[in-house]
Amino acid sequence: MSVIMDGKALAAKIREQIKNDTAAFVRKTGITPGLAVVLVGDDAASKIYVKNKEKACAEVGFKSEMYLLEEKTTEEELLSLIHKLNERDDIHGILVQSPLPKHLDEALVIDSISPDKDVDAFHPVNVGKIMIGDYSFLPCTPAGVMEFFKEYGIDTTGKRCVVAGRSNIVGKPMAMLMLHANATVTICHSKTKDLADITRQADIIVMAIGKADFLKADMIKDGAVIIDVGMNRNAEGKLTGDVDFKECEKKASYITPVPGGVGPMTITMLMKNTLTAAENYSKKKG
Ligand code: NAP
Repeated sequence: MSVIMDGKALAAKIREQIKNDTAAFVRKTGITPGLAVVLVGDDAASKIYVKNKEKACAEVGFKSEMYLLEEKTTEEELLSLIHKLNERDDIHGILVQSPLPKHLDEALVIDSISPDKDVDAFHPVNVGKIMIGDYSFLPCTPAGVMEFFKEYGIDTTGKRCVVAGRSNIVGKPMAMLMLHANATVTICHSKTKDLADITRQADIIVMAIGKADFLKADMIKDGAVIIDVGMNRNAEGKLTGDVDFKECEKKASYITPVPGGVGPMTITMLMKNTLTAAENYSKKKG
């Protein structure tokens, strides 16, 4: 039986710390950290994510502004809003919820956010900084995973780590953070041959492929650490990860559940980045 890593409890603990740090920051500088979240269109899941972000901001003492724009919003209108938010002194973080409607160029939109306010860490400047290990903002989901290692005393140094998934928002930055933490990292993807042979050698596996219950017990070694980033709906409509939790829990040393694992950590890291952005702004202002 493995230790089930409790993302809800860890997120609550870190949010309490952020709340205290925010109160101290406001007392010292008179600046309240401000986050603007922009949602274009009617995606139901995105609406829930945006609501949760608004709630999290209130919880830790941030000001938040939600921009719910119509599906037919033009690129020009969206870029103009981002430009205005870039210029504002009371907004320190800007997040544009993905996915965007097809007619909008996501890369162009990300590029238009000031790197100083890019609390998702998706801007090429911040992506480049992550690559060289000099980062202002850590990408939220991978940063949340690293917090699990810290909390549960899992040392990644010299460990064989497999990251399954190579997206820009999860897989690639995850691999980079683990590399900076001295792990020997292998990245797998949909064209990887004999994936199970690779995962079976891993001390730590991070699954981020978006395939329900994909990782089975016969694909891991005894005592492996299993992190499940996946969020999928199974045939019964239930939220499930990329890991067959029931099977793997018996063999792993540590494992994250879905729900209640990586999910709650992602928004928490967004709050941390927003506070960092406000602190950086205050330092720049002098
Ligand atoms: P994505 O952009 O769709 O990327 C999926 C990656 O998985 C791709 O690199 C793809 O390979 C790879 N892949 C797909 N099928 C595979 C297979 N059978 N074997 C090996 N690799 C395979 O997804 P994402 O945005 O990174 O998200 C991944 C999962 O994490 C999703 O379930 C998403 O909902 C979840 N997620 C959770 C959080 C959270 O806070 N918990 C945050 C973000 C995402 P190719 O590159 O070759 O196509």
